[in-house]
Amino acid sequence: MPALTIALSKGRLLDETLPLLARAGVIPVEDPNASRKLIVATSHAAVSLVVLRATDVPTYVQYGAADLGVAGKDVLLEHGNEGLYQPLDLRIGLCRLVVATRRDYDWRGSVQRGGRIRVATKYVRTAREHFAAKGMHVDLIHLYGSMELAPLVGLADAIVDLVDTGNTLRANRLRVVEEIMPVSSRLIVNPASLKLQRAAIAPLIEAFRKASHG
Ligand code: AMP
Repeated sequence: MPALTIALSKGRLLDETLPLLARAGVIPVEDPNASRKLIVATSHAAVSLVVLRATDVPTYVQYGAADLGVAGKDVLLEHGNEGLYQPLDLRIGLCRLVVATRRDYDWRGSVQRGGRIRVATKYVRTAREHFAAKGMHVDLIHLYGSMELAPLVGLADAIVDLVDTGNTLRANRLRVVEEIMPVSSRLIVNPASLKLQRAAIAPLIEAFRKASHG
C-alpha cells in the first residue's frame, strides 16, 4: 500500500480536525496533542499524520512533503495558493477575518479624512489586497501573534485578525469595524501526489467529503 502523509494544523483547529478525520476512518494511534512524536501513525495502514504550525501546512503540501493537508482559508490566501489542489471545504474552523479597533477609535472618520491608518496583522498580503481594493492607504505592521494588544498600546490604530466568539475582542475593549470574509478550513492536496497515487487519495477525499458534508 502506498504511504500517504496528511499535514494538520496545531492548536484550536486540531481539536476540530481529529473528529472529522475519525469520521473519515483515520484515527491516530496516539494523541497528537500529547505525543512528542512529529510523525504519528493512524488506524489507516497507509496514512500517517504530521502536526505543524498552521502557516507551514500549505508549504509542506506544496513541496510534496505531505500529500494532503487541512488549512484555513486565511492561511491559504496568505500563502498564495500556489501548487495546491483544493477539492473540499471541510466546514470546520469557522470564523471571520475582520478589521477591529479600540471602541473609542473613530474608524469611519479616519477613513473619510483619508489619513494614514496603521494596521497590525499577521495577514499582511490579505490585508494589503483588502485595503487596496477599497482605495485606502494603510501602513501595515507585520506581527506574529497577540494582534489584539497593538491598538491598546498605541502600536496600531486597527488590527486585521480572526474572530470566532468575539470574546477576545470584548475582553480587550475592541470592536469589529469591517468584515473582510468568512473563513473555514479546506482540504488541500499536492497535485503530483494526486496524479501518482490517485487510487489511494481519491477514496480519502471521498471519505472527507462524506465526513464533512454529512
Ligand atoms: P474569539 O475570542 O473566540 O473571538 O477568538 C479570537 C482569537 O482566536 C483570536 O486571537 C484569533 O486569532 C483566534 N482564532 C479564532 N478563530 C480561529 C480559527 N478558526 N483558527 C485559528 N485561530 C482562530
